[in-house]
Amino acid sequence: MKAELIFTGTELLTGQILNTHGKYLGQKLSALGIEVILNTTVGDDWERLTAVFKQALERSDIVITTGGLGPTSDDLTKEIICEVLKLPMVLHEESLDSIRQFFITHNDEMPESYMKLAYFPKGAEVIPNPCGTAPGAILKTDNGKIIIILPGPPWELKAMYESTVEGYLSSLPIGGEVMHFTTLKVTGIGEDKVQDFLKDLDGVDNPQISYIAQPGEVHVHITAHAKTIADAKNLIQPLLNAAKERLASYIFAADDEEIEVVVANLLKENGMNIAVAESCTAGLIQARLCDIVGCSQYLLGGIVCYNKRIKEEIIGIDRKGLDVHGTVSEWTAREMAQNIRKIFKSDLGLAVTGIAGPDTIESKFIGLVYVALATPDGVNCREYHMPGRRMAIRQGSVNAALKMVRNYLERNC
Ligand code: ATP
Ligand code: MG
Repeated sequence: MKAELIFTGTELLTGQILNTHGKYLGQKLSALGIEVILNTTVGDDWERLTAVFKQALERSDIVITTGGLGPTSDDLTKEIICEVLKLPMVLHEESLDSIRQFFITHNDEMPESYMKLAYFPKGAEVIPNPCGTAPGAILKTDNGKIIIILPGPPWELKAMYESTVEGYLSSLPIGGEVMHFTTLKVTGIGEDKVQDFLKDLDGVDNPQISYIAQPGEVHVHITAHAKTIADAKNLIQPLLNAAKERLASYIFAADDEEIEVVVANLLKENGMNIAVAESCTAGLIQARLCDIVGCSQYLLGGIVCYNKRIKEEIIGIDRKGLDVHGTVSEWTAREMAQNIRKIFKSDLGLAVTGIAGPDTIESKFIGLVYVALATPDGVNCREYHMPGRRMAIRQGSVNAALKMVRNYLERNC
């Protein structure tokens, strides 16, 4: 089955918003064995949207539209579909009730403009929107084409895809093979070296290894296609085992895992808290941990000790030791971790010191980073040679630091 995606919104064309739906829906549909043949981004323009929608219906079995379901005058998707298919708009009472209910719970009155959110092309099956006000819809045309209408906001689209659309698409008679992939996220090593580690495993078409480098991390994708997901997973498994073994000391997360979420959950499970002393990351570790709601439960706080005087006066590191070993050294990282743990009276003390560049210090090389973790069982420290430039080195240091916490807590679990 061939699918085509139409992303609506002028803000996508002007570069104000990054189109994330293409990545998300592309992966999801491919995993079901549905071939995505074309993605089109169109502004909120009646003529152009109509033309693209007509063409899509001619060449694809499934057409998915995103955006343009809201209350404003530039939200045109359903109106255009009705015009092209010559269908009337009909009111969906249940949707109207739940939109009204949304405003009641917010102690507000529903503006008249929201009425249009409850109108759908005749014959459409409405997809409830658990995260927002605009419902979506699935519509089958007389000649068997499937139109799936989804909203613009990514969290709403995702929730509706997972609750309704995925089940619907899986039930269709899709002829092709399904695709499955798994991801290993590594840090502290460049893309070229990761490839060197795995090159003798690659070179075959199915399964296949691919690499995506991002600042401070490399994602290793292992992809396979087969008749069923289970068969694809079986093809992937031996390669995955080998890759895991070879990259073990660099892997910090897998698949959709966010390392900060994993660490947050482990800290909660273990009833432990943490304090952080950050030199070259200057607050990035705390910022990542703070992205998670309720982080005050386990993140006590931290000190950005970028400057040598602050390492001495606030973190309490011996000046002579700093002069002998240098601010970027294993000794200093260990002292930082131990002292921050003492200052905050925390269960864990995490510390990072390194050289993010472009200037170097103490005649050491750019990318030299020490990560240390003080725990009730002692202090652990690791030296990294982070690849890339300043941003990549700092982000990589955050991943490496959180990886150390993860490894400690998983062993403790
Ligand atoms: P609303 O009811 O919020 O108006 P809508 O279905 O009408 O939803 P749009 O108005 O097209 O959707 O988009 C709403 C917002 O959703 C956009 O401002 C943008 O932030 C986000 N959005 C839309 N399309 C995309 C996309 N392809 N990728 C990422 N974000 C998107
Ligand atoms: Mg809108």
